Amino acid sequence: GSMKEEDLQYVQVLGSGNGGQVYKTIHKSTKSLMALKVIQLDLTPLVQKQILSEMEILHKCNSVSIIAFYGAFFNENKISICTEYMDGGSLDRYIPVPENVLGAMSAHIINGLVYMWNLKILHRDIKPSNILVNSTGQVKLCDFGVSTQLVKSIATSFVGTNVYMAPERIQGEEYNILAEVWSLGVTLFEISTGKLPFSSLTANMTPFELMDCIIMQNPQSLPSDKFSPDFVHFVNLCLQKNLRQRISVDRLLTHPFVKRNEDGNSQLVAEYVKQTLSQRAVKS
Ligand code: ATP
Ligand code: MG
Repeated sequence: GSMKEEDLQYVQVLGSGNGGQVYKTIHKSTKSLMALKVIQLDLTPLVQKQILSEMEILHKCNSVSIIAFYGAFFNENKISICTEYMDGGSLDRYIPVPENVLGAMSAHIINGLVYMWNLKILHRDIKPSNILVNSTGQVKLCDFGVSTQLVKSIATSFVGTNVYMAPERIQGEEYNILAEVWSLGVTLFEISTGKLPFSSLTANMTPFELMDCIIMQNPQSLPSDKFSPDFVHFVNLCLQKNLRQRISVDRLLTHPFVKRNEDGNSQLVAEYVKQTLSQRAVKS
């Protein structure tokens, strides 16, 4: 990590989440656009060093479906994480995405996940806002929880359960790739319908009620009159509460929904992203 604060010029805020802001910046010497995520964290120098060293592994992750990592640094009580900038932003802003476009996007999402899983890295926070798109039709995953220490440091100040978490993870069991397959299922369900697959879920639920809902309920299926049978089937297989029934990584890659979209039609995604961005520009 040779990146420094002085290397970057701030352009604008791209968004903010639970804990930090993301800025669009220009890397002064190369003139290239970069995203900078800044999170306030009061940590000892030792823990800071540990986080930066755990994040080094991201330099080894080179996949077109994973956001490029340029470096991270601490400045006073803030960590800054510098990554590739995606001009289309995150998929939460595109909901609902038509099935044919989402099918193409799914190929990239699954490609990125499988790449990281092969490196024994779990994402730990799969959801629409952590999937980014650009106007060339690329689809990339961001915000991998590669630093256990960073995940821990952020989790102590914010509530730990979200609607994308697998039941076994919520119950505190040892979790693995299959928990990510579940999160992928919730994510695809939401991106395609604008809804979550739990019928009794409401806003303003307490963390306990939310946990109870995910653990007790059987997730819904996508409506079969609106989506193709193999897409409905695929999401159903991701959303099996029983780990033995949930789709394995091998079967994920050979499922008809994934197979028929495996070229990831970047042209279709590019057209969709550009069209959506220009419609937004007209509205605002
Ligand atoms: P949470 O904090 O709950 O995980 P989040 O993922 O939306 O939610 P952030 O990760 O802080 O929060 O990101 C905030 C927003 O910034 C995202 O929703 C996305 O729209 C935008 N963003 C993040 N990274 C990039 C990037 N590399 N390029 C372009 N936009 C980005
Ligand atoms: Mg995020």
